[in-house]
Amino acid sequence: MATERTFSIIKPDATERNLTGKINAMIEEAGLRIVAQRRIQMTDAQAKRFYDVHAERPFYGELVEFMTSAPVVVQVLEGENAVAKYREVMGATNPAEAAEGTIRKECALSIGENSVHGSDSLENAKLEIGQFFSEADIAG
Ligand code: GDP
Repeated sequence: MATERTFSIIKPDATERNLTGKINAMIEEAGLRIVAQRRIQMTDAQAKRFYDVHAERPFYGELVEFMTSAPVVVQVLEGENAVAKYREVMGATNPAEAAEGTIRKECALSIGENSVHGSDSLENAKLEIGQFFSEADIAG
């Protein structure tokens, strides 16, 4: 297994409820290192670009509105098999289907307000990291 980097977002529902520290602890307990992190207010343009792949889905407008409704924490996570590992730590998109002990099972409110984002492939991780961080921001 190779050391990888993946991109994470702690979403507005979680930052609003002061769950940043709890989620970071779950990430670190899983063996992933937070090598870059920034709290930002996502702009409409940033959220639209980030979720462009879902532009035709019925929930796109709601998703963009949600992601810009309060600050988010954007992060780069590093570790063995980080992309798949973080998807496991997050749990299923719908918290009702998420496994015990996962972030979404413990923190998420609904399928939309589901507390975290994590890249679904190494290729997307690189693109998503590049949307929010430069190489100089990342201290491995
Ligand atoms: P993920 O990779 O597990 O985040 O899931 P997807 O790529 O399928 O969806 C991206 C994000 O869109 C999810 O994390 C949710 O925040 C949101 N989303 C997905 N499905 C729905 C839905 O049916 N309704 C709403 N409101 N949001 C959704």
